[in-house]
Amino acid sequence: MRQKIVAGNWKMNCDLAEMEELLAGIKNNIGSVPNDVQLMVAPSFTNLHPAFESLRETNVKVVAQNMHQSESGAFTGEVSPSMLKSIGIETVIIGHSERRSIFNETDAVLAEKVSTALKHGMTVVFCFGEELKDRKADQHFEVVKQQLKEGLFHINDADWDKIILAYEPVWAIGTGETASPEQAQEMHAEIRKMITEEFSKEIADKVAILYGGSVKPANAQEIFAKEDVDGGLIGGASLKADDFLAIAKSY
Ligand code: PEP
Repeated sequence: MRQKIVAGNWKMNCDLAEMEELLAGIKNNIGSVPNDVQLMVAPSFTNLHPAFESLRETNVKVVAQNMHQSESGAFTGEVSPSMLKSIGIETVIIGHSERRSIFNETDAVLAEKVSTALKHGMTVVFCFGEELKDRKADQHFEVVKQQLKEGLFHINDADWDKIILAYEPVWAIGTGETASPEQAQEMHAEIRKMITEEFSKEIADKVAILYGGSVKPANAQEIFAKEDVDGGLIGGASLKADDFLAIAKSY
């Protein structure tokens, strides 16, 4: 049985007061979410500590959206894994498409970030996914395989216990366009095949693979019903407590 996960990526949204309102909305109705669904939220760096304190009594995990690959040093504006851990943050998103495309994070940099996070015992939500041009050229499997090989597949078998995958086709992120449940299932099954070839079937069967890209209450159920989909990474819809919880309840 793989862990079911519904994670909200709040991106650069919510000042402190807005986040407190969002957290209150989540906490008020959290009892409606099935016990076997792990909820996660990823606030901005400035909101990580207050979110962690606010959610202390719940089992919602607070996750960072990014971190630097170095331990410390002259990297103005960056945040290290030790800093995250010192405020209780044990999980970090690495490789989100916005980090790749807007902040030019290459597969090589992402590989370093993965290694640093694992060295610190952190759990990594590793994001990847093809662009529209790749899918149109029927190159989506190759692109995803390349992203996994270059950014993630340098890890050891034992490291997989600390990995959550998030397949996020770039053409479906924030666009309102969702991959069909069949497209998500097809890719997730292919990803398990890639992991089986490089590592083992045992690892491939164990790792949670989330789908991300315009998931909302109206489409979550049919996407989550697919065999190889273990939950979702939710952007826009996670900014409304009711929608986020409705998505989590879709399981
Ligand atoms: C995301 O940014 O990870 C995401 C999936 O966004 P949205 O749900 O808004 O498409």
